[in-house]
Amino acid sequence: MLEVQNLKVRYGEVAAIKGISLSVPQGAIVVLLGANGAGKSSTLNAIAGLIPSSGAIAFEGRTLSGQPAEDIVKLGIALTPEGRRVFPSLSVADNLHLGGAAHAKGDELKRRTEAELDRFPILRERFHQKAGLLSGGEQQMLAIARSLMAGPRLLLLDEPSLGLAPLIVDKVFDLIAGLKQKGLTILLVEQNAERALEIADHGYVLQTGQIVLEGTGPELARSDLVKQAYLAE
Ligand code: ATP
Repeated sequence: MLEVQNLKVRYGEVAAIKGISLSVPQGAIVVLLGANGAGKSSTLNAIAGLIPSSGAIAFEGRTLSGQPAEDIVKLGIALTPEGRRVFPSLSVADNLHLGGAAHAKGDELKRRTEAELDRFPILRERFHQKAGLLSGGEQQMLAIARSLMAGPRLLLLDEPSLGLAPLIVDKVFDLIAGLKQKGLTILLVEQNAERALEIADHGYVLQTGQIVLEGTGPELARSDLVKQAYLAE
C-alpha cells in the first residue's frame, strides 16, 4: 500500500533520515522503533508531506513525493501527530468537525462524527466540553478520532501512548488493534516497543536516520538488539 524508497530528510546541515526504505502492506500494522532523535517523527512527517524530503514515496501506486500535505490527506493518508495536538480551547465537537470538514459535508460529515462517537463513547460524553479539559488519554482518543474524520485508509500514528498512565496505554493499544480489525492500515511510531511488537505484523528499527533491523513482530521481539535497546529485560 505504501512504498518508501531511499527517503532522506535534512534540517539544514543535519541529515536526519539518511536513505531509508520501508513498505506497509494493506491491512497491516507496521511499527517503527527507535530511540529519541532516531528520525521516527521525521519519517511520518515526510510521508504526510509536512516536511520536504527526497527519495520516492508511493501510495497505492501513486507518487506522493512533492505533493502538498492537503492533497496527501485527500488521497487517504492521515497523521496523528506526537503530543496529542488537539485545539484546547475548542469543544470536542468542534475538534471533530475540523478534522472532517475539508473531506465531507452534510450527512456524510454527521455520519463520520457518529461513527467516531460510537468508536470512542467517552467523546460522546465529553462532546460539548473544551478539549483542553480532557484527560491525557481522552485527548489522545480525540486526536485519533479527529484524524479518522478525514476518512483515511492509512493512519500514521506518532507515539500514541507517550505520557499516558499504564491502564490508558492498554486502552490505546487495544484501540489500535481494533482499527486494524476494521480494515485500517497503520504505520505506528512507538517507544513502548513491547506493546507495539505485540500488535505489529512487521517492524523496522531506526538508529540515527538509518534502518538497522527489520522483521515480523515476533522476530524483532526475539532479537538481541531490540531486547537490549528497547525491551526491559
Ligand atoms: P522523538 O521520539 O524524540 O521525537 P524521533 O525519532 O521522532 O525522536 P525526529 O524528531 O524525527 O526523531 O528527529 C530526528 C533528528 O532530526 C534529531 O536529531 C532531531 O534533533 C532532528 N530534528 C528534528 N526536527 C528538527 C528541526 N525542525 N530542526 C532541526 N533538527 C530537527
